[in-house]
Amino acid sequence: MESTETTQQSAVQAAWNKRPLIISGPCSAETEEQVIETAERLAKTGKVDMLRAGIWKPRTKPGMFEGIGAKGLPWLQKAKKLTGLPTTVEVATGKQVEDALTFDVDVLWVGARTTVNPFSVQEVADALRGVDVPVLIKNPINPDLELWQGAVERVSRAGIKQIGLIHRGFSSYGNTEFRNAPMWHLAIEMKRRMPGMPIINDPSHICGRRDILQATSQKAIDLDFDGLMIESHIDPDNAWSDAKQQITPERLAEMLSAISWRKEDVPSESYHAALDKLREQINHIDDELMQLISQRMSIAEKIGEYKRNNNVTILQATRWNEVLDKALLKAGKVGLSEEFIARYMDAIHMESINRQNKIMND
Ligand code: PEP
Ligand code: MN
Repeated sequence: MESTETTQQSAVQAAWNKRPLIISGPCSAETEEQVIETAERLAKTGKVDMLRAGIWKPRTKPGMFEGIGAKGLPWLQKAKKLTGLPTTVEVATGKQVEDALTFDVDVLWVGARTTVNPFSVQEVADALRGVDVPVLIKNPINPDLELWQGAVERVSRAGIKQIGLIHRGFSSYGNTEFRNAPMWHLAIEMKRRMPGMPIINDPSHICGRRDILQATSQKAIDLDFDGLMIESHIDPDNAWSDAKQQITPERLAEMLSAISWRKEDVPSESYHAALDKLREQINHIDDELMQLISQRMSIAEKIGEYKRNNNVTILQATRWNEVLDKALLKAGKVGLSEEFIARYMDAIHMESINRQNKIMND
């Protein structure tokens, strides 16, 4: 018979390797009853692979609930025993790593407020030396991929073999649709930089509210994320932290059922043939676009020479307004969004300015 420890290890490995990997549980462990009931109701859905709960909460301002502390770890241990769900907890200090491991937490995660601080990440990494535990690393609160990658490297250098990423969005000033701007392109770039490393999406902290959780989760699945971490609570409105974004285990199950799960590829010849044909067209158009942009830049350089010879400024606001207005008007007519064309024209214009700047000042 397998020992309990090996059974548990294989349960953790099975969860870690499952696609999509679904992690859920409360933002914070609050009471033993709350943790156990959440775990049992999540397990009952049959749709969750791992139980999360915040034990130590890095809150933005003092006076908010800062987590129950190590006292909550035995509750998680009990929840695991009752449901078989492996557990995961956020750690931000060496002591927290030690405490979490003492109470058999199966997977550790580094939070967004920790990833920003190399001292803290290094302390966590040092505490992980010689330990065989999977670690998930959330993106830093600011959109800096180097910091995110740096945290992965620190944990990896400590000898941790199983590392995954969690994309939870990035802080910005002022009220926006999202609590943390997803900036999907950054997650995509991180995926490119770290091929083969699992990346989980955390729509709860991106959205900060329930009504857009499902659409955001769907978007993550459409972008080929490996799983989701979604906060759930037995009584979301009365949660001690992040009340607005939590959902009941039953609502989570409904939401997961409504998601269209996608795969990265299918073994269908007709699908591949059709895609290859269309992609060839795309490649061709990309080539042409590049040629045209290059021609446009050559003309801009010629204009730069005239401006230099006549001592005229690079920018004439009226001309730029005309160009932009015309492009935006055209955008609607050809089915392109104004937002995209504004960004596109801005990029083209900045490159033109840089070229002319060189011509005029070299
Ligand atoms: C959390 O998962 O509850 C949490 C604090 O997340 P983040 O580190 O993304 O803010
Ligand atoms: Mn939270």
